[in-house]
Amino acid sequence: MLIEGRTGSWEIVVGLEVHAQVISNAKLFSGSSTAFGGEPNTQVSLVDAAMPGMLPVINEKCVEQAVRTGLGLNAQINLVSVFDRKNYFYADLPQGYQISQFQQPIVGEGVVTVDMPDGSVKEIGIERLHLEQDAGKSIHDQHPSQSYIDLNRSGVALMEIVSKPDMRSPDEAAAYLTKLRAIVRYLGTCDGNMAEGSMRADVNVSVRKPGDAFGTRCEIKNVNSIRFVKQAIEIEARRQIEIIEDGGSIDQETRLFDPNKGETRPMRSKEEAHDYRYFPDPDLLPLVLPESLVAEIKASLPELPDEKKARFIDHYGLRPYDAAVLVAEQEKAAFFEEVVGTADGKPKRDPKMCANYVTGDLFAALNKAGKEITESPISAEQLGGLIDLIADDTISGRIAKQVFEDMLESGKDAAIIVEEKGLKQVTDTGAIDAEIDKVITANQDKVEQYKGGKDKLFGFFVGQVMKATGGKANPAMVNEMLRKKLDG
Ligand code: ADP
Ligand code: MG
Repeated sequence: MLIEGRTGSWEIVVGLEVHAQVISNAKLFSGSSTAFGGEPNTQVSLVDAAMPGMLPVINEKCVEQAVRTGLGLNAQINLVSVFDRKNYFYADLPQGYQISQFQQPIVGEGVVTVDMPDGSVKEIGIERLHLEQDAGKSIHDQHPSQSYIDLNRSGVALMEIVSKPDMRSPDEAAAYLTKLRAIVRYLGTCDGNMAEGSMRADVNVSVRKPGDAFGTRCEIKNVNSIRFVKQAIEIEARRQIEIIEDGGSIDQETRLFDPNKGETRPMRSKEEAHDYRYFPDPDLLPLVLPESLVAEIKASLPELPDEKKARFIDHYGLRPYDAAVLVAEQEKAAFFEEVVGTADGKPKRDPKMCANYVTGDLFAALNKAGKEITESPISAEQLGGLIDLIADDTISGRIAKQVFEDMLESGKDAAIIVEEKGLKQVTDTGAIDAEIDKVITANQDKVEQYKGGKDKLFGFFVGQVMKATGGKANPAMVNEMLRKKLDG
């Protein structure tokens, strides 16, 4: 995407550093619980509180989760990695350093394929993934003059997933985050819940004239929704363009996005820039993984979004866009497959019609009601039942829409609604014939005009007959019989 400035077009360059909280019952180096929403300071061991003499012990589960994520990102798994101390002082960091990985992360380069809304795909490079501890939380709004510290989060395992500066628009960044979240959810390594802070992004933005070298970037810290990531990129890019076009230059700095004011502003400037004095943590040996462990984890990976998408296109003949929409969440994909069903290893119902109903009518209804697919008022089986009624011509596609609305409201099966409301399609030629005759008699003037060459009127006659039968006449039959009567 190019942005027009006063001096011509500009290209946006974006790289994301995503912090993803590892799904694990215990913290990275202690046995304390990681459950969300506990009373402050009830999930804190002596290690997490950094009492003198306490020693960290690596949680194998967290290591496995990082490897699993690395494999899901098609990335290099490093059999030897090193934990370093990243030193800084902050009230919510009792150790005075965060245990992280610097030069030798557990996961190296990888790639994520993102699906753009126009159906195209783009590959975004992964630079690295490393394991690190989360810090505690400062609470400033509980007392007029004091701050409180909650250490429940202190020591919880995070994966920092660093992308290459491969994104070129807010939409690409959003698509990348969406895909990354889908992958970690499929893998079961992070719940991807941005509202609860289990996934947050540091957004690096720079601008350049197309073809030029990369410009100086600013890093917008801790953005906690995909919508905000898009807004922050757009606003930050425009700010940078304005400065450069005014003859200024960009300072590499850390900024904060304020969604209320619609601006980014500096958090720290260069003078206070951190020098973390990284060095290997002497309390921890290098982490050495047996190859067999990596192989074992690889063998246990589920079908990931890209593979599922390919299968949906191949096996069900879906359009790539519909397939991408369906595989975005495992539960949506499973719902679709249940609607289609299988008979003799083949799709039981027309997959395209099922995909249209699921991604169209159903998703729209769920969206409107603010519900997840798992809370759908119409079960997959019920939706399948509705589609069967269309397929065997019991009802027309148009009546089906009406039945669908009724199912949403009442939770009843389609067949029962059709029975109760007498919505069965009229396929009796005699009945349709009678209605056609009535319509022709009542509209002699229009019949003359039609015969005189006003072809467009044909639709009018179809509409009248459909109306007369309460929309229940089989539309194909109405068309055919009308043609015979009017043209014959
Ligand atoms: P640091 O460790 O100082 O944060 P990195 O080189 O690891 O620096 O880069 C951090 C992030 O910044 C990466 O996601 C990378 O893709 C992104 N990035 C690097 N250069 C640029 C640039 N010129 N414009 C936008 N993003 C960039
Ligand atoms: Mg950084």
